[in-house]
Amino acid sequence: MRIFDPHIHMTSRTTDDYAAMHAAGVRALVEPSFWLGQPRTSPQTFFDYFDALLGWEPFRAAQYGIAHHCTLALNPKEANDPRLAEVLDELPAYLLKDQVVAVGEIGYDAMTPAEDQALAVQLELAAAAGLPALVHTPHRDKLAGVHRTLQMVADSPLPVERVLLDHLNETTVAAARESGAWMGFSVYPDTKMDEQRMVAVLRQYGCERVLVNSAADWGHSDPLKTRKVADAMLAAGFDHDAVDLVLWRNPVAFYGQSGRLRLDIDQARTHEQALFAGNSVARGGE
Ligand SMILES: [Zn+2]
Repeated sequence: MRIFDPHIHMTSRTTDDYAAMHAAGVRALVEPSFWLGQPRTSPQTFFDYFDALLGWEPFRAAQYGIAHHCTLALNPKEANDPRLAEVLDELPAYLLKDQVVAVGEIGYDAMTPAEDQALAVQLELAAAAGLPALVHTPHRDKLAGVHRTLQMVADSPLPVERVLLDHLNETTVAAARESGAWMGFSVYPDTKMDEQRMVAVLRQYGCERVLVNSAADWGHSDPLKTRKVADAMLAAGFDHDAVDLVLWRNPVAFYGQSGRLRLDIDQARTHEQALFAGNSVARGGE
């Protein structure tokens, strides 16, 4: 079984997680830039973070046989802090980098005017850069958030077929499907979707344009949820082709719209003694 986790924050995870993910079948992932759990206080901290998602983290993933790409953006929550506006000025240069396969996570947190502005600007940047967009739907007022997001997309130059609406659930899937956007579901241990609810959604709405992710980060989350959904699908009577469509071909098709997906691992980086800027993931050797 081959698995592509289209939304996971590996910066917050350990090398044990990389090893367990590889053993479970994960061979590719996309790491969206996001909020760190506490507010950043200057744009420069974003740039160091973006550089890590483009450098150190793909290097680390390659050690465990996993292809790593990222999405970059000013996240919705921090779009409300005027000190960080410069991030949007620098973002176009970052979007030129080979490993960036979408603009994201963008979207709404509290649905403020500042978030409207940041979303509109970043949808335009995605269109200008020839990239799709990963759009987070808010945790509160979910359905209103999806409708407002779809209106912003309709008013933008980015075609809806290049938008992945993430963190959907039973209340928002129909509106997302109707729009023509790709549909992302984050499966968490105790909130949002679980494996059984995910299987029920797939039964009702089918597997076309559906992506499943673990969205694992620094909070209570599980980087093996993609595999657990695959197993639940098989147990519920879905065949291996349906599992491969949801867990591999759909994410490849969505992010492949960037023209930048490289699913072969850089062998030079998988050697145990490999170094990135003079550093390795090994400890205690020297
Ligand atoms: Zn996320």
